[in-house]
Amino acid sequence: MHLNDGFGRSFKYLRLSVTEACNFRCSYCLPNGYRKSAGPQPLNLDEIRRIATAFSELGIRKIRLTGGEPTIRRDFDTIAATIAALPQVHKLALTTNGFRLATRALKWFDAGVRSLNVSLDSLDPSKFHRITGHDRCNEVLRGIDAALDAGFHQVKINAVYMAGVNDHEIDAYLKLAKHQPLSVRFIELMETGDHAKFFKKHYISTENIANKLLREGWTPKLKTADAGPANDYKHPEYQGSIGLIAPYAKDFCKSCNRLRFSSLGKLHLCLFGEFGVPMRALLQSDDQLDELKERLLIAVKGKGARHQLGVGNTGQTSNLSAIGG
Ligand code: SAM
Repeated sequence: MHLNDGFGRSFKYLRLSVTEACNFRCSYCLPNGYRKSAGPQPLNLDEIRRIATAFSELGIRKIRLTGGEPTIRRDFDTIAATIAALPQVHKLALTTNGFRLATRALKWFDAGVRSLNVSLDSLDPSKFHRITGHDRCNEVLRGIDAALDAGFHQVKINAVYMAGVNDHEIDAYLKLAKHQPLSVRFIELMETGDHAKFFKKHYISTENIANKLLREGWTPKLKTADAGPANDYKHPEYQGSIGLIAPYAKDFCKSCNRLRFSSLGKLHLCLFGEFGVPMRALLQSDDQLDELKERLLIAVKGKGARHQLGVGNTGQTSNLSAIGG
């Protein structure tokens, strides 16, 4: 039994959000900071273990922990170790803003995390401070060094590419990949319900980066089966690689291999879907595993062909911290 949709896509990669809360205040995501609401609590450890077990028994081989900021959970290390211990999960990945990375990298590696995506939207400390609300650029850079020292198999840096914000920093980012095995990825800004104005002002296509890379001797890399959405480039003089994530590009959704599960227990078939399919009622006991798997199989059949971002339809997504980017 495997997770397949009606468009010939099969799913081996899950992004699992463990909290909506975030300590950063990124200008394109949560500029006023996370506000706690009186609503339900995020999934507890048992609920997380059950959903990860069900997905892994349905063919999911890579799980990425995300949020919000996943590492603000006190039980984060236990969550990671619990998922890493599932025999069918071959790769446990984490997306983080890196605020605890310098001190926790080794602990997370020991817990079983093997692949890290670290958000870093500027290499200029004062700009980083303005974007995120935190003066922690150098701390995050130290964290990246600590992650490389700890032995992570993959360390990627995610920069949301924004006109008038960081579009003049490309060369500085390329330098990071010169002598270190880092994958630096530029992500196109995506429109979300809360930030239509910000999007209009700062969206810029990554096409000009692709052209620059080709001019400067970079060549496209072949994608591996469990790869994420980036188109990667390599260069003989660079240890690392560069990735471009262009969700507005034609055919971006054709090769979609990802499902998302929110910290409130909903299955999201697309980051920009209209609704999440509630599953929390089926996460209350180990005896519900078969029913849960049955529901997941049926729900995934309903995944749409593509998102509607190109026509300005952001679905229900008010910002990415709610579902997990
Ligand atoms: N807190 C973690 C972090 O900072 O990486 C994980 C959650 S964050 C929502 C995941 C990724 O989504 C980050 O790389 C962030 O920059 C990106 N992101 C958030 N809003 C976005 C948007 N509107 N467009 C493009 N990327 C966005």
